[in-house]
Amino acid sequence: MKFGGTSVEDAAAIMRAATIVQSRVAEQPVVVVSAMAKVTDQLVACANAAGNGDREGALGIARGLRERHYTAASELLGTGVFTQFHSELEGEFDALDELLRGIAAVGELTPRTTDNVLSFGERISSKLVTAAFSARGLNASLVDARQCIVTDDRHTRATPLFDEINDALAEYVRPLLERGRVPVMGGFIGATQDGTPTTIGRGGSDFSAAIVGAGIGAGRIEIWTDVDGMKTTDPNLCPDARRIKVISFDEAAELAYFGAKVLHPATLLPAIQKNIPVLVLNSRNPKNEGTRIVARAPGCKNPFKAIAAKKRITIVDVVATRMLGAHGFLKAIFEVFDRHRCAVDVVSTSEVSVSLTVDSNEAIPAIAADLGKLAEVKYEGRKAIVCLVGENIRGTRGVAAKVFSAISDVNVRMISQGASEINITFVIEEDDVPQVVQRLHSTFFAEADPAVFD
Ligand code: ASP
Ligand code: MG
Repeated sequence: MKFGGTSVEDAAAIMRAATIVQSRVAEQPVVVVSAMAKVTDQLVACANAAGNGDREGALGIARGLRERHYTAASELLGTGVFTQFHSELEGEFDALDELLRGIAAVGELTPRTTDNVLSFGERISSKLVTAAFSARGLNASLVDARQCIVTDDRHTRATPLFDEINDALAEYVRPLLERGRVPVMGGFIGATQDGTPTTIGRGGSDFSAAIVGAGIGAGRIEIWTDVDGMKTTDPNLCPDARRIKVISFDEAAELAYFGAKVLHPATLLPAIQKNIPVLVLNSRNPKNEGTRIVARAPGCKNPFKAIAAKKRITIVDVVATRMLGAHGFLKAIFEVFDRHRCAVDVVSTSEVSVSLTVDSNEAIPAIAADLGKLAEVKYEGRKAIVCLVGENIRGTRGVAAKVFSAISDVNVRMISQGASEINITFVIEEDDVPQVVQRLHSTFFAEADPAVFD
């Protein structure tokens, strides 16, 4: 059971989480928690301030974090327990301050120290949640994620080492379960084999939960968040978006990549490998069944499961008439993106030109300059990717025609039907997103198969 930042954001949220865990205690849950909502962002700000030599700025943010955790702890714990726990929290926050002073003194922030600073969010939230669960009668035991989630040393986006992790889980988590305890561990953080703290990428607690779930052979992985599961589209764009009751791993992975923020894209990998169902559930509304993500989606009358839109996209057009017929053109182009460590989302090609999309970032002018040595280059920002996902695309005729006739007056820039054959993706102006999503949603979801949608 993974509880995200908003599901542990304050005392009230942690109490709701305790009640939810209580309701499943007979099923021997392991609990993975994020830092309290926004804490990781603030730790990033702390680390950056310290790295720029702004010692007081960094310590000021840390002071705010300290207060927030003390307040939650005092609301959650009886006076006696609180006094004892207070000094434990104090120890953590003093260590954070000391680290920040050290960074500020040197005036330099390395990825390794960044990870050390960021690790405090989950180190502290997991301690607080363990204490609060115990105060509510759960037999909770803290497990140090740095002992279990063993990773390589690519700081800020470390890769988990599964064999080592599974050994550690067998050593530190399994015995607790056998003794009827509820293990509680921080997500997102881990450590190298020699114990240096690492993090596995922003939003990584979902991934931690899946790694643990797969490692202990869990019957299911529950991702507790603050919405009723995955929706057919962003409810902010379309108030009549429906809840998706069940979706396949492949479909959910496409959606996670294309902007459905509910789930971290890598989450599903360990679950897919072990074929463990993943449930996305709402800690504010635990009775709702949420979304169930399974290996094989049941038959569905609608061609799509969902429509996702991703804004802040830049199109890069590369036109190379002189490379016509020459091989190595694509290689040369992609090498430029590789050199700038820039991920490409959608690609469409003709004989003499290639269009690519990238998340808008500062590297684009430099990339364009490098590409300019090979060919003629243009780039244009403020675009958006729209992606329709569903396994039924494969077998249904006329789906693309229906999509594009619903938005026939819109300027569509690039079209690609993913190699997986379960998505239709195209690029439009960012400003067209609301009307395009709304029209497609009413075209494809006005009638929704009740077996799959709510
Ligand atoms: N606290 C981390 C973050 O905000 C990890 C997570 O919550 O998934 O990125
Ligand atoms: Mg998240």
